[in-house]
Amino acid sequence: MGDVLCCLRSGGVVLTGNARAARALGRRYGQAQRAEGKTAWPTPRIYDWEGWLGVLWNQHLLNADEAPLLLAQLQERAVWKRIVQTRSDEPESMAVLAAEAWKLLSDFNSHGELQSFWQGRASDDAEAFGKWASLFDRECRKKQWMSRSDLAFFLIPSIQQGWVELPAEILLVGFDRITPAQRALLDVSHARGCTVRETATRAEDAPAQIIRARDFRDELETCAGWLLRSLEANPDARISVIVQNIDTARGEIERIFRRILMPASAGIDHRDALPYEFSLGQPLATVPAIAAALLLLRWLALPLSRTEISWLMLSGFCSSREEDGAELALLDAEMRKYSNLPLQARLQAVASYRPRVSSPASRSFFTMLGGLDRLAEREGLERRSRSISEWLQVANRVWSHAQWPGARTLESVEFQALARWEKFTGDLAALEFDGSRVGFAEFVTLIDRYSRETIFAPESRDAPIQIMGAFESAGQQFDAVWFAGADDQQWPPAVRPHPLLPVWLQRQAAMPHSSVEADWQLAREVTRRIAASAPECIVSYAERDESGDLRASPLIRECFAPQPPLSSKEFRGRLNFPIETLHVCRTVELEDSSPMPWPRDLVAGGADILKRQSACPFQAFAVRRIGAEELRESERGLTPLDRGNILHKVLESLWSPRGSTDLALHDRRDLLNARSNQSIHRLLDDHIERVFETRRGSYEESQWDREYLRIERSRLHSLLLQWLDYEAEREDFAVVAREKDFEAAIDGLKLRLRVDRMDLISSGRLILDYKTGPVSASMWDGERPDDPQLPLYATHGGVEDLQGALFAQIRAGEVGFKGRIINDTVTVTKDPKTNSSLNKNPLDRDMLGSWRETLGNLAGQFLAGDASVTPKSFPKTCRYCALPSLCRVAETAAALEPEEDLDGDDGSESSPHE
Ligand code: SF4
Repeated sequence: MGDVLCCLRSGGVVLTGNARAARALGRRYGQAQRAEGKTAWPTPRIYDWEGWLGVLWNQHLLNADEAPLLLAQLQERAVWKRIVQTRSDEPESMAVLAAEAWKLLSDFNSHGELQSFWQGRASDDAEAFGKWASLFDRECRKKQWMSRSDLAFFLIPSIQQGWVELPAEILLVGFDRITPAQRALLDVSHARGCTVRETATRAEDAPAQIIRARDFRDELETCAGWLLRSLEANPDARISVIVQNIDTARGEIERIFRRILMPASAGIDHRDALPYEFSLGQPLATVPAIAAALLLLRWLALPLSRTEISWLMLSGFCSSREEDGAELALLDAEMRKYSNLPLQARLQAVASYRPRVSSPASRSFFTMLGGLDRLAEREGLERRSRSISEWLQVANRVWSHAQWPGARTLESVEFQALARWEKFTGDLAALEFDGSRVGFAEFVTLIDRYSRETIFAPESRDAPIQIMGAFESAGQQFDAVWFAGADDQQWPPAVRPHPLLPVWLQRQAAMPHSSVEADWQLAREVTRRIAASAPECIVSYAERDESGDLRASPLIRECFAPQPPLSSKEFRGRLNFPIETLHVCRTVELEDSSPMPWPRDLVAGGADILKRQSACPFQAFAVRRIGAEELRESERGLTPLDRGNILHKVLESLWSPRGSTDLALHDRRDLLNARSNQSIHRLLDDHIERVFETRRGSYEESQWDREYLRIERSRLHSLLLQWLDYEAEREDFAVVAREKDFEAAIDGLKLRLRVDRMDLISSGRLILDYKTGPVSASMWDGERPDDPQLPLYATHGGVEDLQGALFAQIRAGEVGFKGRIINDTVTVTKDPKTNSSLNKNPLDRDMLGSWRETLGNLAGQFLAGDASVTPKSFPKTCRYCALPSLCRVAETAAALEPEEDLDGDDGSESSPHE
C-alpha cells in the first residue's frame, strides 16, 4: 500500500489489473485516510484499465472537434448480431464470439492480419469471421461508430497531440499480463513525460504449506477449520481463499463455510453478516428482485411453469402489503391442489381461477392479474412493434401495476441491484441507436438474455474472508491466503485457443491460450504472485474427484521449495481442529412428555388416520393434528394418485345399485348383456369421458394435453375392460352400495368410513376395495397393519351376512380378487382355485376379534396423542412420506433399526387410491 499512497499523494494515477482490485485499493486508501484522522478527502485516482480509458475518452471529447460514437457493449453486440445473422441462421452466441475475436485483434494489434483470413490461411470459421469483421469495420467507418476494443489505439494520437492531460506518474498494480495495446498507450504516455511504474509483487521462491486432502469436501472443511483458527487468533485479519471454478463450487463452499464458520447462520431468522464473501458477482437476472421483474414480463408473452408462478407469488416482489406472504402461500397450496392448471400456464388461465378461500391478499393478487391482462390488451403486446425505449416504458407500467418490487423494505444488496438494473435498462434503451423496432416477445428475449450476461457485483462489506478466483486476486494483499484446487486437472486451467481466429495468428501475437507454454508461463506467474500476496500461504489439492485420482499440479512442485505435503488430517491435528466433531448432531432436545389427547367428540377423519397411526404415530399426528400436508408438485401428465382417483370415479359411476341411474350397470346380468350386445365399449367410454370432463380446467388444453389425455382414456378403457371380463366370470352378484359413507366409533375414536363397493351374492354380502397398486391380504395382519380400511369396515361397518373382504386388484396384466372369505361355502368366482386361495385364512370370528383388538389399540394411541417418531419399517415406511423435515427422522435414524427390504414394495406406502 506504501507505493500506492506515495503515487496518489504525488498526484499520480494507480491502474489495477481488474475492477475488484481497484475497489479494494480504494477501500484501503479510505482506511488509511481515516487512520490519519481525516474525515473527508478527494476521491483517489485509482482505476482499472477500462475505467482509465473512459477518463481519457472524456478528456478527448472535451478537446477534440469531432469524435465517433463510442458503442456501448450492448450496441456493439447488436451490430455483430445483425452482421452474423445477415446471411445465415448463426446463433446469437456467434455474435458474442465475433465481438471477443475483434477485441483480441485490437488488444494484440493484429487487425492487419485480417486479409490473410481468406487467402487459404484460416479455417472455415476464421474465414467467416474475417468477412464479418470487414463488414463490421466498414459499417463502423461509414456510420462513425467505434468499438470500445479500439479505444486504446484511438487515444494514442490524442495523447501525442496533448488533447488529454496525463498524470506525472502511472503506477500499475496487479497486471498479470500487459497487452500490446496497453503497452503502446503506456509507451506514448511515457514519451510525453509520464513516469510508468509497476509494483513489485512477484516473488521467485515464496514459501507455502502444501496440504493433501481426500477430496474437495475434505479440502474445504480443512480450509474452513484453518480460517476459524486464524480469525480466533486475529479477528482483524484479511484472508483470501482462492478457488478454481468458483461458479460451480460456490454452493458447496457456501454450505461448508456456513456450517463451520457460523453454524448459527443456519437459523432462518439469522441476520448477522457472514464472515466471508464472494468477490465474484452474479448475473443480474439471477438477483431475486430482477428475476421477478423479468418473469412478470415473460408472463405477458408466454406461459410460465407452475414452479415459476409459485415463486412469483411467494417472492414478495408483487404484493402491496408485507403481510400478504402467508395468505399467498395458502393460495399457492390451494391452487396446486385444485386448480388443474397445466404445467405451463398463461396469465389469463391463472387469472380465471376462483379461489375456494378468499383473503385480502388473494383478492389483490387476482385483481393484479386481471389488470395485467387488460394492460396487455390495451398496449397491443401481441400486435405492435416498438423501439426498445418505448417497450421499456410499457414494461415500467407493467411493473408498477404489479406493485413491483413489493412492499418489503429492501436490503442494501437489493437496493444496489435495483440501481444496477436502472443503469442496465438505460443501456438497453441505447440499443435503438440504429432505429430498429421489435415486437414484445423479442423485447422480452433481449432484456432476459442481456440481463443474464450482465454481472452484478454488490459493494464489498469488507468481510474478513474474501473468496475469489486465481486471476481476480491480482493486485491485492492479504494477511494470509489459501489457494485451493491446485491439482493437476485444474491448475493451470485447460483453455483452448479462440475458435474464430487462426491458431498461427494467436501464437504469433502471443494471445492468451494460444499455446500450452504461454498458459503455463502465465499460470506460473500467477502462482508466484498469489504466494507473494500474503505472509502466510497454504496451497491445497484433493487426491480424488468423481473422475478418478488426482495429483498436485506440477506447477506447485515448480514454484515452491520441495517439501512433503501434509495430509489434511495431520494439518487439522496441528490446528487442534478435529473435523469429526462437526458432524455431531446439533439438535436441541426439549423434553415434553405430556401427550395431547384427541377430543373424543370430534370426528378424526377416515380410515387413513389409523393407516398412518399404524405406519408411524408421528405421521398421523402431523397430518391430522397440525395439518401438515405435502405441497403438490406439478407434473406433466397424471400422477399415480390421479390415475387411482379417476379409476375409482369411473367405477363409482359405472356400477350402481338398481334404481339409481339407467346409464349404469347394476348386476352381473347387466354386464353380460352389455358384453353380448357390444354396448360395453360405448358405456365405458361414456363414463370415462364424464369423469375426465369433471377434471377439465378452465385453461385451454394444448395439443400435447389433448393427445396425452386421449391416450390415458384409451389406457383406462382397456384396463377396465380386462377387469369387467374378470367380473363377468364371477358367480352372480348385484351391486348394493358404492362409495357409501358412515360414521363409526373405534373404542371411542370417531371415524367417517367409506367402502368402495358392496356386492350381494347368493350367501350374503362382500365388501370390495379397488386397488391399482400391488396388494396382498397380509396387509391386514399384525399389530401394525399396512391397510386397515377393510378390517375397519368388516368389524365396525355393521354389514349383514358378511361373507368376505376383498381387494379388487386392477392393474395392467393383473386383475382379480385378493382377500379373505368366511369359509369354503362361499363361492366368489367360478374359478375354484381363486375361491380356495381366498379361503386359506378364513375371515372367521377369531380373525375379526383380533382385528377389533388391533384397531382399538391404534385408535387408543391416536386418542392419547401418541406422536412418537417410530416408523413401522425404517427406512421403507419413510420412503414416500412427505414429513422427514418435520419429524427429523434423519437425526434419530441411528436409533432406528434399518429393516431389510426382503419382500420388495408391498404397496404399504402406496396412496389411498392406488
Ligand atoms: S418420515 Fe418416517 S418417521 Fe417421519 S413421519 Fe414419515 S414415516 Fe414417520
